[in-house]
Amino acid sequence: MVKQVQISLNPAEAADNALIRKISGKLAKIDPAEISDIRIIKRSVDARKKNIRVNLTVEVLSHGESARLLVNPFIPKNVSNQREVIIVGAGPAGLFAALRLIELGMRPVIIERGKDVSERKKDIARISREHIVNPDSNYCFGEGGAGTFSDGKLYTRSKKRGDNTRVLELLCLHGANENILYEAHPHLGTDKLPGIISRIRRTIIDSGGQIIFEKRVDDILIERNQIKGIVTSGNEKLISSSVILATGHSARDIYNICNIRGIDLEMKSFAMGIRVEHPQELIDIIQYHGSSRGEYLPAASYNIAKQVDGRGVYSFCMCPGGFIVPSATSQEEVVVNGMSPSERNSPYANSGIVVEIKTGDLQRYSKYGLMAGLEFQKELEKNAWENGGHTQIAPAQRLADFVSGKESGTMPKASYFPGIESSPLHKWLPVSIGKRLRNGFRLFDKVMKGFITNEAVVLGIESRTSSPVRIPRNPLTLEHIKIMGLYPCGEGSGYAGGIVSSAVDGIRAAEAIASNYR
Ligand SMILES: Cc1cc2nc3c(=O)[nH]c(=O)nc-3n(C[C@H](O)[C@H](O)[C@H](O)COP(=O)(O)OP(=O)(O)OC[C@H]3O[C@@H](n4cnc5c(N)ncnc54)[C@H](O)[C@@H]3O)c2cc1C
Repeated sequence: MVKQVQISLNPAEAADNALIRKISGKLAKIDPAEISDIRIIKRSVDARKKNIRVNLTVEVLSHGESARLLVNPFIPKNVSNQREVIIVGAGPAGLFAALRLIELGMRPVIIERGKDVSERKKDIARISREHIVNPDSNYCFGEGGAGTFSDGKLYTRSKKRGDNTRVLELLCLHGANENILYEAHPHLGTDKLPGIISRIRRTIIDSGGQIIFEKRVDDILIERNQIKGIVTSGNEKLISSSVILATGHSARDIYNICNIRGIDLEMKSFAMGIRVEHPQELIDIIQYHGSSRGEYLPAASYNIAKQVDGRGVYSFCMCPGGFIVPSATSQEEVVVNGMSPSERNSPYANSGIVVEIKTGDLQRYSKYGLMAGLEFQKELEKNAWENGGHTQIAPAQRLADFVSGKESGTMPKASYFPGIESSPLHKWLPVSIGKRLRNGFRLFDKVMKGFITNEAVVLGIESRTSSPVRIPRNPLTLEHIKIMGLYPCGEGSGYAGGIVSSAVDGIRAAEAIASNYR
């Protein structure tokens, strides 16, 4: 017999499994001797009031009932001699498309410009130590894609629960902790992600799929509006009538290729701003109502959004107990983003704080046509490079100084490995962004008292939140609106954002290929 109960405990109680078993059994009215197992199926922390609660949904199994398999298995097929599908990019969209193609009996061939995850780590270290950015191997490019060295947050605003759950299941089957299946805000951590990614690679190769590293796709072959294949760096042609384009939103060269080859693009809104970093202890005190988090609560996070002068100003990719990382994809630009280890135990809390940019805001860049948003991003990234000292050192300002428009004489300690340099961001950020950010921070401080402080620091520039262009596709077949057999997919297509929704999009692309083929 299986019974479900809801319980609400204080954080210390919620860490005690024997107590959870006892209380759940009592609520389910099952004799303790008859309980064969209990299983948590939902867990969330409610810190809205001073009396912080942990809410749990628990399944109580009795009379010899054993826990059913938590995840649906992945049943590999040998696809060595099956129909080939080319996938460009080994990010979440590309990798999950490959897993699904295998389940559907097709052979994925992934072309990835970057290196495998262990070689990639060396290039990432060089960015911080030597300020050298390899344009094909960095925080955005390489096996696992942009989210490999990240907080690995797995929650998404997408409501398609079934698809999201399958992504979480596949992550568990490749080594993720099963708590991601029931936590309200699951995350993996940068220390766990590379292992999971390399196990996914193993599954793809063991099933007869292929992953080719350090080959960039430099051209797309099309004949009479039908995809024919791709051309890699080294001028090698690979032929297929189905190509999944899963190159992420930092692959600006791919958008240029699309433009040249008559693959229609559309402009879309996106967001840019800065990354703010506070001492984690301060965020804990604000979010946990004046107390530090103690032994049983996680590093506190926040998620905040306000309207300022007709545009959204909001927190993006908040990383509790994390680090700010240099996410540029070429040498003369500074781009910041965030990551956290699985324990979220660094002394810093960082988050992007960004301003919504609508296509109508880009008049000044209209000469670039559909590429206007990309040019605006590039310009700000270059400004950050110049204001940071022509290295990966990031231009920075204390938060209270930024809000009141004062230069910062000294800098607090920050987690950003390449280093920070005092710079008057309030002067050089475009007014449309800088002024909204400053007013946005004032509004944030009303909800999170103490948020504006000179103990916090803002770093520029947070520019890669989402793609400024979309590669439009047919909503039914998921093919490009004009080019048959081309499947724009994941974050770079403009139809997904974040690890889970990009992975879900990859799965959908694989299913669309199977169904269109039939
Ligand atoms: C530092 C950082 C932290 C992040 N943290 C989180 C987080 O905690 N949670 C979350 O949900 N999201 C996070 N994100 C965003 C998330 O990583 C992306 O939304 C997600 O990875 C998009 O998946 P994708 O497969 O569509 O594209 P990507 O992950 O960008 O993958 C695209 C792949 O294509 C390859 N590629 C590009 N061009 C070519 C070419 N011409 N030829 C061959 N290969 C090519 C790239 O090398 C890359 O591997 C983070 C991003 C960064 C940079």
